[in-house]
Amino acid sequence: MNTLKIGENTFELAQIIIKDLKASENIGILKCIQCGMCTSLCPAARHTDYDPREIVKRVLDKDESLITDDIIWNCFYCYTCHSVCPVNNSACEVNQILRQKAIDNGKGKPKIAPFSAYGDSFLEYGLGAIPNDFFDHLLKDYGKEWLQLKVDLEDIREELGLGPILLPEKDVNDINKILEKTGFTKRLERVRRCKDEGNSR
Ligand code: SF4
Ligand code: SF4
Repeated sequence: MNTLKIGENTFELAQIIIKDLKASENIGILKCIQCGMCTSLCPAARHTDYDPREIVKRVLDKDESLITDDIIWNCFYCYTCHSVCPVNNSACEVNQILRQKAIDNGKGKPKIAPFSAYGDSFLEYGLGAIPNDFFDHLLKDYGKEWLQLKVDLEDIREELGLGPILLPEKDVNDINKILEKTGFTKRLERVRRCKDEGNSR
């Protein structure tokens, strides 16, 4: 495994990111002019202390403490920064790579455990769904109208001439076979175990 050990790197952090498989070809991290366009439109920056311009600056400053900094987990990959950067940089991709390094180092494992609930919905329903654990937060943010929409969803779909939202059992079984064959199910098990590994730290 390509593990980044903090303080033991022969490459600069920016070079490690540029060479990563997840980085777009010609990612413009070395051209960042600190204009702040990414931060001005970043929804995570609006609601938290997270700042994509600052993340990029810390990478360019070779600040490897970023790997263990919880702040990198505030980005939710909307790609707004990616689409507005004037020099073809992507704080979003930078974050993805930093997170992978954190996972490889073990520090990021507790952070990914909650995502297993998304995988469970593929196994159970054959489609991606918001996990029940997040419902309380959504109710708080969107109010009772959101809950009513959930309750009325099947009726609304019928009115619009759409079919049922849930797939037939046979299709779910077929999807499960694909998920098994492609290694998704096994990988999901590993993500679930991250929760216990995180708890034992
Ligand atoms: S928009 Fe691009 S150039 Fe401007 S600060 Fe963000 S990453 Fe740097
Ligand atoms: S992808 Fe992340 S860093 Fe970029 S704008 Fe969205 S939340 Fe902000």
